[in-house]
Amino acid sequence: MNFKEYIRVIPDFPQPGIRFKDITTLLQNGPVYKEAIEQLRQLVKDKEIDVIAGPEARGFVIGAPLACALGVGFIPIRKSGKLPGETIEADYALEYGKDKLAMHKDAIKPGQKVLIADDLLATGGTIQTSIDLIKQLGGEIVGAAFLIELSYLDGRSKFDGLDVVSLVQY
Ligand code: IMP
Repeated sequence: MNFKEYIRVIPDFPQPGIRFKDITTLLQNGPVYKEAIEQLRQLVKDKEIDVIAGPEARGFVIGAPLACALGVGFIPIRKSGKLPGETIEADYALEYGKDKLAMHKDAIKPGQKVLIADDLLATGGTIQTSIDLIKQLGGEIVGAAFLIELSYLDGRSKFDGLDVVSLVQY
């Protein structure tokens, strides 16, 4: 399936010069959304995975259904101030802007094998911060799965030795 047909590219959003890959047009198509999750499942199903962690907010729409499809738990990585329990936090930089990510201190048990999932890999800043948080909690990262990879930003080079998979590349 050519998933690119279902992803809308919006120029100059959220700021001039960014060509925003809008996945809402893919998500609204049930069979295509289902097929995307199924293909991601195929790419990671042979890994030993205890839980999937995904960053707010689009990491939820990829990570949670993927976790369900694999029958493993899902852990939300949220912006600072959103999680109700005790958290750890870390700064992160985006392709456009910066923010803080947080996880519950008890979200991961030491030694748990964690797959990270998000809609899109750009510079890799979000995932680097997610990895830092997961490692602080004692989790072991077994890979990262994305719907979209912006290959021209070469985010994956940040993660030497990490298995990074994606369905669509630009
Ligand atoms: P990175 O941290 O630079 O890899 O940026 C990835 C994060 O920014 C992901 O969580 C994406 O949701 C978001 N992001 C960056 N560019 C785009 C885009 O073109 N479309 C959708 N999300 C984007």
